Amino acid sequence: MSDQLQRFIFDDYQIRGEIAHAHDSYNEIISNHEYSVEVANVLGELLVATCLLTATLKFEGKIAVQLQGDGPLSMAVINANQDLELRGTARAEGDTTGLSFRELVGKGHLMITITPEDGERYQGIIALDKDSLSGCLEDYFTQSEQLPTRIILHASHIEKPQAAGLLIQTLPAVDQENHEEQFQHVTTLAATVKEDELYTLPNDQLLYRLYHQETVHLFNEQPIAFKCNCSKERCLSSLASISSDELQDILQEQGAIDMHCEYCGSDYHLNESDLQILLANPNETQH
Ligand SMILES: [Zn+2]
Repeated sequence: MSDQLQRFIFDDYQIRGEIAHAHDSYNEIISNHEYSVEVANVLGELLVATCLLTATLKFEGKIAVQLQGDGPLSMAVINANQDLELRGTARAEGDTTGLSFRELVGKGHLMITITPEDGERYQGIIALDKDSLSGCLEDYFTQSEQLPTRIILHASHIEKPQAAGLLIQTLPAVDQENHEEQFQHVTTLAATVKEDELYTLPNDQLLYRLYHQETVHLFNEQPIAFKCNCSKERCLSSLASISSDELQDILQEQGAIDMHCEYCGSDYHLNESDLQILLANPNETQH
C-alpha cells in the first residue's frame, strides 16, 4: 500500500475521521539510523500523528511536531508541509530496551509549531503525561480544543517497517442531541481495529469492517512522501555565521568541512572551492 492519508465522514453523525498509512516514509526515516525498536516505534507513531494532525489543522506552510523530554529519548521530530512531504529524526542515549513510552520520554512535552506561508507562527505545547503518544494527543484535543478525539497509532519494524493510524473526531459546533452516544459507538468500534488490519487493509475494507452498519463517505486520498530538503547550498548557508578567518583555520587544519544530514543520512563534503563564496565576502559573514 502506498503512503497516503484519507479523510472520511459519517453521513448521519457529526463525526469525521482520517486513516494514514506511511510504511515507505517510515522506512526512509529509520533506514539510515541505528534506532532501537522502542525509539523507532515512537518515531513511527510521531510520523503518523503528524500526518493526522496536518490534515486536521488546515494551514499552508510548514509544521514541526517535536517531542522533548529528560528521559533516554531526549528528542524526536517530524517536519512536514501541507502536502504531507516529511522527514524526521530522533536522539536517544543509553539502553532503551524494554522501556515504555513514559520511561523513554521522562518528563516531557510535545511542541507543535506551524509556520504558515503568510501570517503568524503558531506554537502549541502538549504535556506528555499519559502512557502513550495517542493518549496525550487525545487529551489535548478533548481538553484544549473541546473536540473529543480518539487516535490510534501503530508502528512496527520487526519484519518490515509499517506505520499507520486512525483518527476519529467530533466536528466543531455539534448540535445533534445524541451525539455523545454516537461518538461512543463510533470510537468503541474503532478500538476493535487490529494492528495488522490497520497496516494492511485498504481503507474502504477497513471502514466496512468497522462500520458496515453506518454510511461512511470517503474523500480522495492525499499522498504522503518522505522528502529531505537538505542540499550543499543549505549547508553553506548554515556556515554563514562563521567568520571567514575561522573557516580558513578549519580548512587549513582539516582540508575540508564535512557535514552530515541527521534526517536522510546524506554527507556533504565542502572543500575550499565550495566555500569560496563565504571566504570571499568576509563582510557579509559578520552578524
Ligand atoms: Zn537530508
